[in-house]
Amino acid sequence: MRSSELFYPTLREVPSEAEIISHQLLLRAGFIRKASGGVYTYLPLAYRVIKKIENIVREEMDRAGGQEVLMPIMQPAELWQKSGRWEVYGDEMFRLQDRHKRYFALGPTHEEIITTLVDGDVHSYRDLPLLLYQIQNKYRDEIRPRFGLMRGREFIMKDLYSFDIDDEGLDVSYQKMYHAYNQIFTRLGLKYRVVEADSGAIGGNESHEFMVLADSGEAEIVYCDNCDYAANVEKAVCIAEKAETKGDLLPMEKIHTPGQRTIQDLTDFLKIGKDEQIKTLMYDADGELIAAILRGDRELNEIKLKNVLGCNELVMADEENVRRSSGAGFGSLGPVGMDVKIYADLEVAAMKNFACGANEDDYHFKNVKLGRDFVPEAILDIRNAVAGDPCPLCQAELKMLRGIEVGHIFKLGTKYSDVMGATFRDQNGQSLPFVMGCYGIGISRTMAAAVEQNSDENGIIWPIPIAPYHVIVVPVNSNNEEQIQAANSIYKILEQEGLEVLIDDRDERAGVKFKDADLIGIPVRITIGPKALQENKVEVKKRWEKEVELVEIDKVRERVLDIIWG
Ligand code: ATP
Ligand code: MG
Repeated sequence: MRSSELFYPTLREVPSEAEIISHQLLLRAGFIRKASGGVYTYLPLAYRVIKKIENIVREEMDRAGGQEVLMPIMQPAELWQKSGRWEVYGDEMFRLQDRHKRYFALGPTHEEIITTLVDGDVHSYRDLPLLLYQIQNKYRDEIRPRFGLMRGREFIMKDLYSFDIDDEGLDVSYQKMYHAYNQIFTRLGLKYRVVEADSGAIGGNESHEFMVLADSGEAEIVYCDNCDYAANVEKAVCIAEKAETKGDLLPMEKIHTPGQRTIQDLTDFLKIGKDEQIKTLMYDADGELIAAILRGDRELNEIKLKNVLGCNELVMADEENVRRSSGAGFGSLGPVGMDVKIYADLEVAAMKNFACGANEDDYHFKNVKLGRDFVPEAILDIRNAVAGDPCPLCQAELKMLRGIEVGHIFKLGTKYSDVMGATFRDQNGQSLPFVMGCYGIGISRTMAAAVEQNSDENGIIWPIPIAPYHVIVVPVNSNNEEQIQAANSIYKILEQEGLEVLIDDRDERAGVKFKDADLIGIPVRITIGPKALQENKVEVKKRWEKEVELVEIDKVRERVLDIIWG
């Protein structure tokens, strides 16, 4: 491909709306353009990358026994009403009406469609297991579409659904996908980690996320160096403190704390640590007011709380309600004498002599103890894990990393087949619900994650397996016949070897060509300049290294093949 003909409108300035590296670089290097918030066009370079990612995903899905289909994006509302998700999905679902005023959803996911499809055409255990997948646009009206392709409202996803006879069958399908996903992210050339993930309110079902490691990642991961444990903080298990805090238990005291509302206020005012106080958070759980208490320096994990409560909706309570029930505003709440159900984090049970609000504005208690001064409804793990916590498997210290969730695999069991009445007949003619799993990969997000992980101050550094082109050939002077000829001949030789090659034939200064080659991130650059050419040599440079090698023209083929295929 000639650079002069390639459509890659590069930008000099960093676009102001782009906060993270991948968004900035994909815009600047002419890979994507925004059509609307969270909706993008993939320009030629980007679409080449997307197709490479898709093909690796496709090969591994096929190898694992998946069969590719293409389901409709436009899905009738009735299917979603049948599963109950027409209501539950809420504002994240795009809905539209046809001329007959019938409702449709733009598919945010495809469990409803595929469960209906398989129910209609698969009747016997003999036809199972069945693994069907597609690669297609998904639509989700995200509250905060941001970071370019990272969190789009229209994005490309691979989604596979497995149908099995029983739980053992599901285990096998799940293992196949677990293995295939590892193959995929290894082949894509990305540094990633598999972590245990929250599986939502269904509870107990297995789920793993595949995280590309990057500092800008939205997900926090805790992991153990001493054993294999790794989990999303949403899910990471915190184990109970073994020992109580030291010192004698003192009598509870009420103290005047005018204007002291936050944990930090109290830290300064009483000269105590954040870990010597507790915070009290009030929630509305399906209409019931409840309190969650945890150590002052900890973060509540709403997902854990929601899972233990088993409620559908959990939202922060509003202050008026709280005042009516407890007698105080947010700054002076505490568990002592409170008459709503209190859920205490495990750590609170091991604390002694802590400070907390007295449910009276401008007053706090000190020297409080759970059990003596108040009795909670339950003592549970409801906080976020942090670096330094003991590993739940081996007690070594946990460490922390950030990651971008690119894949998610999930055992669904009979969640959908039950509600949608999707059944098959077993050996005895008995009707049973399909046992299902679902397995997603964010294709467009993976492209962004690859950039997030692989760039420098000059631009993108594509991992070779997904680079839009392998090699860029740059004649220093596009008007010099000798250089052009050498460039063309190298271009042809490399293309014959099956490499994807760009030739920068534009009438630009060498500096501009080098800058653009770096910006778009082509792994190997071959520069043809007058000096080297006199000795029958050209420069070969790897995008990820500073040094340039001088290579004889008849050795270029061999050298480049070695760099690309290794
Ligand atoms: P998240 O927690 O990031 O919203 P999710 O749990 O909603 O993700 P899934 O429903 O499991 O995501 O979708 C499968 C995969 O699709 C995710 O692992 C992710 O890679 C990708 N994905 C999900 N939402 C988006 C989005 N808004 N934009 C781009 N990719 C997305
Ligand atoms: Mg989501």
